Amino acid sequence: MTAAVRKASFALTGRLHKLGIFNDADLLLHLPMRYEDETRLTPIRALASGVSQQVEGEVEHAEITFRPRRQLVARLRDDSGTLVLRFLNFYPAIQKMLEPGKRVRAFGEVRSGFWGEEMIHPRVLAVTAGEALPQALTPVYPATAGLAQSALRKLVGRAFERASLADLLPESLRRSLKLAGWERSLRYLHQPPTDARLGALDARSHPAWRRIKFDELLAQQISLRKAYVERRAHAAAQLHPQGILTARLIEALPFALTGAQRRAVDEIARDIAQPYPMQRLLQGDVGSGKTIVAALAMLQAAENGLQAALMAPTEILAEQHYRKLAGWLQPLGLEVAWLSGSQKKRERAAMLEKIATGEALLVVGTHALIEETVALEKLGLAVVDEQHRFGVRQRLALREKVCGRLPHMLMMSATPIPRTLAMSYMADLDVSVLDELPPGRTPIVTKLVADARRDEVIERVRDACREGRQAYWVCPLIEESETLQLQTAVETFETLRAELAELKVGLVHGRLKPAEKAEVMDAFLRNEVQVLVATTVIEVGVDVPNASLMVIEHAERFGLSQLHQLRGRVGRGAAASSCVLVYAQPLSQNGRERLKAIYETTDGFEIARRDLHLRGPGEFIGARQSGVPLLRYADLERDVDLIEAAKQAAEEMQARFPDAAEALLARWYGGRAELLKA
Ligand code: ADP
Ligand code: MG
Repeated sequence: MTAAVRKASFALTGRLHKLGIFNDADLLLHLPMRYEDETRLTPIRALASGVSQQVEGEVEHAEITFRPRRQLVARLRDDSGTLVLRFLNFYPAIQKMLEPGKRVRAFGEVRSGFWGEEMIHPRVLAVTAGEALPQALTPVYPATAGLAQSALRKLVGRAFERASLADLLPESLRRSLKLAGWERSLRYLHQPPTDARLGALDARSHPAWRRIKFDELLAQQISLRKAYVERRAHAAAQLHPQGILTARLIEALPFALTGAQRRAVDEIARDIAQPYPMQRLLQGDVGSGKTIVAALAMLQAAENGLQAALMAPTEILAEQHYRKLAGWLQPLGLEVAWLSGSQKKRERAAMLEKIATGEALLVVGTHALIEETVALEKLGLAVVDEQHRFGVRQRLALREKVCGRLPHMLMMSATPIPRTLAMSYMADLDVSVLDELPPGRTPIVTKLVADARRDEVIERVRDACREGRQAYWVCPLIEESETLQLQTAVETFETLRAELAELKVGLVHGRLKPAEKAEVMDAFLRNEVQVLVATTVIEVGVDVPNASLMVIEHAERFGLSQLHQLRGRVGRGAAASSCVLVYAQPLSQNGRERLKAIYETTDGFEIARRDLHLRGPGEFIGARQSGVPLLRYADLERDVDLIEAAKQAAEEMQARFPDAAEALLARWYGGRAELLKA
């Protein structure tokens, strides 16, 4: 291998890893997300909008225009009419293909544009007159930048030659469940035969899809059953409820626990008194009050003379937790230690000492907690806030702090998982749900405002602050470039500072040093800063009750859960709160649906459901990060019958065909098995 080839194949491997592909078996399970019908040509005049179709014609004209921004515009003609092809991003290769006089096929969706019918970013292919059309449907794979469909198709083809295609489902089971054969199903989906119909394939109702989905569910059930058994075989310290300090804390709180909080507290209290480790997810919408539930559990550990640690994904959040916990627990005579990456050396050393000696039973921190220098020998309970923000290894690292025994684990997440999802996904992750918000919150009013009316939004901010309230102004994530994102935030900050001269405007973004971030957040918390311009760093957990207005720019670029999380930053105090979503035209279909969903409901579960629908479960709660064997193909709502069948089959496989059960796990989780242990 030459250095260049090695480098190229290294890059390819990296891209495949990004897609969760580590070996040939993974490639076979990397199934098309949809198919395109390139077997036909549609005359330009007969194009229907809203569906992807293919046309063929001669390029009549092509030019690069600069208004409103740089783009390549070409006009294509066939016997029936002309069509505009528009490219906002394009490579020289495309430009070359679209020189006047050349013949191309274009595949895409047609819309009515300013100059009549047009396709934006169609896929184009240079052809010669009369060139044969493909005979079968074209699979479209989930891909990533730098990895072309054609390359994936080739890789999959090779995988068919190398990977095992054995049917791991015992014949008797397969028959009684009336399922299609494994190899046939795989081949059908990757390389549909010429008579395959787009409808059944896209709806995933075809028997080939059912077979894949069944195996996926079966592998999941088997792995969950194994995890359950393994967990119960581990020892953990029994943290019996002592009740004395807990009662005092509850009494001292300025509020009464909600019914949902009490239920969760009881469930956790019971679990951590068991001699095997708890594995529980505390799930509750933003603002549902998860922190106090965690504090009460931590207190139970301390009452048993063991340590409890709370790990949060950002410095801002960790510090906020530290303050809350110290406020609640120090009056009870308990020391709370605090660790963060930005801490001064001397302070850190002192904290480490307190933690090592066990003088501090309660510890709060960021990732700094899992560093090797931190000795948490007496750790009885580990709490991970916003658990989906952590990699699986990071969560596991906390567990490994203790020799011999495992600590109890409490994971917290504000990303609500629809109940059906939670139950069947997480047979080995018990779930407590806070499905009730503390009383006295006024509902948040959501407004959608077009970009052009930005001035009115600024006036709203002015009004809110004049009444003594505070506002967040969130700038969007710009995926392509962190620098651009930063630049946008800084520009917005400058503009707002000029426009709202009478107010103090602050800026917080990911490039600030932790101490600087903390300083800005502090000032905001103390109302010394009235308007906080922020990138998405504020997304998780920040609690500033006086902030009642949230402005989100380019809201159409945010994911649904993200919008929900951001909106949850307001509406935490008694004042009426609002969230203004500023969007830019034109909206994509998906963007429009996201905005509609966030506008129509504030119910986190409903939002999660729609999010799931819009994104597909594969992406849900950062699939690859979550450590839970998420489903890529089966749909828990549509495929309930398969879930039931898979549950029963899992039991039978483990009892009667343990080798096949293991092979199935290897096939589905293979190189990722490690990730699924959590
Ligand atoms: P989250 O679930 O988003 O982490 P927090 O734990 O930050 O929510 O709680 C949000 C706010 O609600 C905090 O200010 C907290 O003190 C307060 N809170 C929690 N439980 C209650 C309750 N039962 N009644 C009133 N306020 C509560
Ligand atoms: Mg929280």
